[in-house]
Amino acid sequence: MFNKVLIANRGEIALRVHRACHELGISTVAIHSTADETAMHVRLADESVCIGPPPPQESYLNIPSIVAACEISGADAVHPGYGFLAENAKFADILEAHGISFIGPEADHIRLMGDKINAKAAVERAGIPVVPGSAGAILDIDDGKRVAADIGYPVLVKAAAGGGGRGMKVAKTEEDFESAFETARLESKTAFGDDSVYLEKYLERPRHIEIQILADTHGNVVHLGERDCSLQRRHQKVWEEAPSPVLTPDERTSIGEICTQAVRELGYRGVGTIEFLYENGEFYFIEMNTRIQVEHPISEMITGIDLLREQIIAGGGYKLTLKQDDIKISGHSIECRINAEHPETFVPSPGQINRFHTPGGMGVRVDSAVYSGYRIPPYYDSLIGKLIIHAPTRDQALKRLDRALKEFVIEGVDTTIPLFSRLLHEEDIRSGNYHIHWLENFLAGQ
Ligand code: ADP
Repeated sequence: MFNKVLIANRGEIALRVHRACHELGISTVAIHSTADETAMHVRLADESVCIGPPPPQESYLNIPSIVAACEISGADAVHPGYGFLAENAKFADILEAHGISFIGPEADHIRLMGDKINAKAAVERAGIPVVPGSAGAILDIDDGKRVAADIGYPVLVKAAAGGGGRGMKVAKTEEDFESAFETARLESKTAFGDDSVYLEKYLERPRHIEIQILADTHGNVVHLGERDCSLQRRHQKVWEEAPSPVLTPDERTSIGEICTQAVRELGYRGVGTIEFLYENGEFYFIEMNTRIQVEHPISEMITGIDLLREQIIAGGGYKLTLKQDDIKISGHSIECRINAEHPETFVPSPGQINRFHTPGGMGVRVDSAVYSGYRIPPYYDSLIGKLIIHAPTRDQALKRLDRALKEFVIEGVDTTIPLFSRLLHEEDIRSGNYHIHWLENFLAGQ
């Protein structure tokens, strides 16, 4: 097993990795920018290295500084968390060239899944159902209009290099096509330095359902069921739950088997998430994430499996001890992403947290790196923490979430807690009857 893992991240995920490492007897090295000297991930790690000034480009995305930090500290592996360099194939390649393990898939798999056009083709060959769309990149408007007419409007123009919902535009009719195509291309060029786009049928009211998989380098692949992440704002997940309120056990088994089979065929290792849109009983692949995800705890809660621990074990080249038959789904879990943002306008609210008191009791977990007196720096994302609930049934989970939200005290900055309390009063939320546009419609009508 690894002796020392460098955690190339910050915030709650850096802490999550630290905890898993310590429970495995692995010591940890934190890296931090000058803005994060007093951060919890730095305080708890066994060692820490300052890698640069606050802007991410100069610190958490600065590959030479991070490799130097590995060499100074003698770390034998790097865990990238999510975001920053987690899906950067070049980073994985460079680490490997320095004899440092990257706790994640092989660089080639990151590269494959990072190009959505190639990813879609590869998973389709491996038997996964995909959204109907163009066979490859669309190079000009006339070609695009021809393909769009074949697919049938509305269509979605999507960036091949896309992420975080950027570079995605809907064309409702042929009249809209040119502007959607040009805007998506421009946005993608600006955000990702690549203007390749492709087309997909735009699904009107799907749910977002994703399958968590876990694979070792010995051909063992298991899935941990699904997460329903349909409550989104600007294509960003806000509330996730597992199991999905709508999937049947047979649907779960069937899509889970399709995913594990495909992952085995691709020779993929580590944790991964296969994301689908789900409408009228059909699954349509949209992308595969090759890292641990923000919402992974809800899968941990319903299966009792520590995903970070398994990821590190598989990353070290060891065999998974889990078999599919050992994985039993028990109860219901909900995660709310609590951000330092105004609950109605979503304007970020960095600043000092004067008082921070987390809820507790049975079935309540808070993954956060915040403490009383902590100052949220303005340079990074606005996630304060994740409130994760587990209860025997969905109804009990909703009640437990309600009381946990009431116990949560965060003073000094705006937070999205009031939004979650409001959602709990909505009949569609209570009955689980929502889709990917539900939250934006709700917010538009407020
Ligand atoms: P990104 O990598 O930018 O997150 P994804 O392909 O994962 O992009 O899509 C993000 C979100 O965009 C999905 O969860 C869904 O809400 C929406 N979306 C993506 N593809 C489609 C589609 N074909 N039809 C309708 N909505 C879509």
